[in-house]
Amino acid sequence: MSWHIQCAEDGCHARHRPDYPSHQCQKCGGLLEVRRDLNGLSGGAMRATWVERRLSNLPLDRSGVWRFRELVSFFHDAASVITLAEGRTPLLDAPGTGAWAGGVDLTVKHQGANPTGSFKDLGMTAAITRALALRVSVVACASTGNTSSSMAAYAARAGLRALVFVPAGKVAAAKLAQAIDLGAFIIELGENFDQAFELVRKASAELGLYLVNSVNPFRIEGQKTLAFELLEQRDWRAPDFIVVPGGNLGNVSAITKGLREISTLGLIQKMPRLVVIQSAGADAFCRLMTSGADELVPVAQPETEATAIRIGNPANWRKARRALIETQGLCESVSDEEIFEAKRALALEGIGCEPASAATIAGIRRLCAAGRIPPRADVVAVLTGHQLKDPDYVARHAAEIESGRRLQVEPTADALCGVVERILKASP
Ligand SMILES: *Cc1c(COP(=O)(O)O)cnc(C)c1O
Ligand SMILES: [Zn+2]
Repeated sequence: MSWHIQCAEDGCHARHRPDYPSHQCQKCGGLLEVRRDLNGLSGGAMRATWVERRLSNLPLDRSGVWRFRELVSFFHDAASVITLAEGRTPLLDAPGTGAWAGGVDLTVKHQGANPTGSFKDLGMTAAITRALALRVSVVACASTGNTSSSMAAYAARAGLRALVFVPAGKVAAAKLAQAIDLGAFIIELGENFDQAFELVRKASAELGLYLVNSVNPFRIEGQKTLAFELLEQRDWRAPDFIVVPGGNLGNVSAITKGLREISTLGLIQKMPRLVVIQSAGADAFCRLMTSGADELVPVAQPETEATAIRIGNPANWRKARRALIETQGLCESVSDEEIFEAKRALALEGIGCEPASAATIAGIRRLCAAGRIPPRADVVAVLTGHQLKDPDYVARHAAEIESGRRLQVEPTADALCGVVERILKASP
């Protein structure tokens, strides 16, 4: 399969050799993309192959990333792939939440069902496979939490050492516990992700660490398969909108790249519009898109309870801006209170997720209210992380959530009967 690495910047597009190790263009310093020539590929034939593989028990076919390997451009042989059966995540109807959000036809693609509980696994299987091909021995990332647990798992699987750089005290405890449990080294530094990221980005070049943040174009190759799996689950009927929370903006870039490719292959008839939802306290990208400015102005002190998107200076903003322009996409920011309410709406339908994921639903609600998403629109929200990623959040909001539903009684049969009778009488 012939592929190459190409600068993603308009006006540069410099080509780089497949063994080019850096994540930045040699010529202009921009971010890179992995490209393969789609000429000669038949969309219809691939579609049939992908369905056949769903019945296969080969590790590669059981992965929701590598099942689409014709389009994971740099794939060369099965033996060199590091996989934990990522992807294959459910697409769930959420009619109650859709009604709550403003009367849209809502489904959610739940990435919490991945091996380490977030969509980062789709990218990490690709990035760690690439790291092995480059014969590196140490991988590193700065992280708001989920990248670290994902990297720890895939690095362990590959026999690589893993260094995680996180802002001190600003990462959900469960995510750090995962990374530690899976054998990574944790280095806490700085106030926020942006500081940690800037430092590790510089240090990685000097120290020979292989960086697996979403500036790594191979991670994007894995994450873009979310679009393939989603469209396949919908029998290749494109939705009107695909909504994602925006942090470092790798995910929106990746999903749009995937859509672009299957659109070129004729597998979908229209491009869905991409929607990025940010937290009001970390909304540099939304401000950029609303103002029409040329350059992103970072938020110096990003603040939000949705720690996965607590990022002030998103590295992939240029790619993300192209994605929104190309798909006539939308951007919106939401408060922590709105995120909380959206998470409650999902919970009422039996769907748990972490706060950043619920930002999508809060954003849909706002966009519906403003008439920017029409009633009955066909909308897919990407729920990026698992409910158990952030139990502290639930504990902090215990009073609002439980409201009389958590009761302590004496350990006697009488007390137990009494309290159960009271509950059954009180609730409908
Ligand atoms: C990483 C992450 C995000 C943000 O994704 P980007 O690609 O950085 O925009 C959102 N939600 C969760 C749960 C995440 O782990
Ligand atoms: Zn360039």
